[in-house]
Amino acid sequence: MADVRVFRPKSLGGLLRLYARNPDALLYAGGTALVPQLRGPAGGSLELPPKVIYLGNVVELGRISRTQRYLDIGTTLSLARIMSVGRNVLPKVLQAALGSVANPSVRNLATLGGNLCSGDGGGDTLPALSAVGAQVELRSLGTTRWLRVERFAHPTGAAVLRPGEIACRVRVPLEEWDFQVYRKVGRRHGSDRACLSLAGVARLPKGTLEALHCSFGGLGLGAVPGREIEARLKSARLPLAPKTVDALLEELRRLLESRMPAAVSGGGQYRPATALRLFRWFLAGLNEKSLETL
Ligand SMILES: Cc1cc2nc3c(=O)[nH]c(=O)nc-3n(C[C@H](O)[C@H](O)[C@H](O)COP(=O)(O)OP(=O)(O)OC[C@H]3O[C@@H](n4cnc5c(N)ncnc54)[C@H](O)[C@@H]3O)c2cc1C
Repeated sequence: MADVRVFRPKSLGGLLRLYARNPDALLYAGGTALVPQLRGPAGGSLELPPKVIYLGNVVELGRISRTQRYLDIGTTLSLARIMSVGRNVLPKVLQAALGSVANPSVRNLATLGGNLCSGDGGGDTLPALSAVGAQVELRSLGTTRWLRVERFAHPTGAAVLRPGEIACRVRVPLEEWDFQVYRKVGRRHGSDRACLSLAGVARLPKGTLEALHCSFGGLGLGAVPGREIEARLKSARLPLAPKTVDALLEELRRLLESRMPAAVSGGGQYRPATALRLFRWFLAGLNEKSLETL
């Protein structure tokens, strides 16, 4: 194996300076997405690039803090730790999405930053983070910007990061939702992305839909079902009439047909058909919940 230099910065300032000087270095968090990629499909020996920056010692990236309105989660916190520390605070939809990733051993290593930045539309936490309107703080030496999480949900998701830029924390709004659901179909093995998921939240005081957000994972389409459908549903009377449900499903079908890249829809109708089934399940759940709030 060629010489590999592994840097282990301890502070955010040190990390940003180091990465600015070495923008070609590989950022390494939990390694659970990287290691299978670096071993290749045949599972050979680990081929690390010449420079690796290990993020796990950077104090600021391992913090979690709460205000009345937000939970700020450092990107190097493991999924298991977030689930345990945030047990009573995290939106249920996010707790469910975190718990759907792999298995407890992987969740002990896998970080939230790695789940967002692993490319190809990111991991299973993305739809839940998108649904609750989470944002990511990106920093490079001398710059800071905030992006909505759904920007990472595109097939070229990790490309939103500019050279020298690091995802530092994820800001999760702590809003009250009457209805929160997360469902994942299919199992994921390492980098194989054969699964689809749907995360949705809604507020429905007295049978009226005040706010609704839902988002798919695994379609590579960012924020679908999309603002159009969400806007049409806003202020709708609940429960939704069967013909409204059919019209929404038809609208989603057309949206998927026009927006799904060939690479994603390839392999037949499985993904669009599954997405439609998930959306129907979501609307049925919403109707059921609305009857409880009357
Ligand atoms: C057996 C197995 C099962 C899995 N099942 C699932 C699953 O069910 N659902 C799922 O979503 N994922 C799954 N994964 C993939 C992986 O575990 C997760 O996506 C995990 O959250 C990645 O986090 P990590 O810390 O290990 O990232 P790493 O592997 O360390 O990094 C992943 C990528 O993100 C970049 N990166 C990491 N942190 C940052 C940061 N702060 N700023 C900028 N870039 C960063 C790295 O440079 C790298 O390109 C599975 C993996 C395995 C091995």
